[in-house]
Amino acid sequence: MRTLQLAFVFFLAFLPYSCKKDSDRRIRKFHRQEVGYSANDILSDKKYKSITIEIIYMTGFKPTDQAIDNLKQLVTTTCNKPDGINVVFKEIPAQGKSAYSIDDVETIENDHREEFTYRKDLATCFIFLDGPSNENQGTAMVLGHAYFNTSMVIYEKSLKDNSGGFGEPELYKLETTVINHEFGHILGLVNLGSTMYSSHQDTAHGAHCDNTNCLMHWEVETGNIFDNLIGNSPIPTFDQNCKRDLTENGGR
Ligand SMILES: [Zn+2]
Ligand SMILES: [Zn+2]
Repeated sequence: MRTLQLAFVFFLAFLPYSCKKDSDRRIRKFHRQEVGYSANDILSDKKYKSITIEIIYMTGFKPTDQAIDNLKQLVTTTCNKPDGINVVFKEIPAQGKSAYSIDDVETIENDHREEFTYRKDLATCFIFLDGPSNENQGTAMVLGHAYFNTSMVIYEKSLKDNSGGFGEPELYKLETTVINHEFGHILGLVNLGSTMYSSHQDTAHGAHCDNTNCLMHWEVETGNIFDNLIGNSPIPTFDQNCKRDLTENGGR
């Protein structure tokens, strides 16, 4: 009898700990799916009523307020989130690497991400780095990359290096273009979790749109767009085809 009681106490004492560990693991697993996997969860209000965007930036590489306002605007006009958008900033030390691989980025996310999907709030994580992508080849640059269902990286140093000077676009315009393009991938564009309503995928360039003026054109995440953003040129937006895919998948 005494042994039984002791065993019961022992069991109770360890129960909360193991439950917490299991749920932590489940919460983390939610954020380790392919890009586009959570498109419907982010677009619709079926399961999640609000969205949290955690902005993790290296010291000196915080995105501009205008770019974050434009991102919020995009979420507001694209996603059904009646309980709103919550943006959380987290500064981390600059690592000073000459280039970052996606493995490096995943390590940074593992070490620093604090916001995870919980109850009716879906969490996303945007990382801003003090260095370029290790996939850059000469003038062919990778400016951003969505790499999990709720995660993206922006090579903020590359954006800063190519903006603000003579004959260069303003930084916030470049940031808005690249951030919103990567968010489009997380929303399942093109044919990446949001089914195409009509055919418009540029299959030669993966999950991109065939309209050169669309935000989801492949050149938007490379260096080829710099000239298009100079002066009063507008920041690209989703064209009709991309917009339609999002509304068909639960978006606004
Ligand atoms: Zn892209
Ligand atoms: Zn498009």
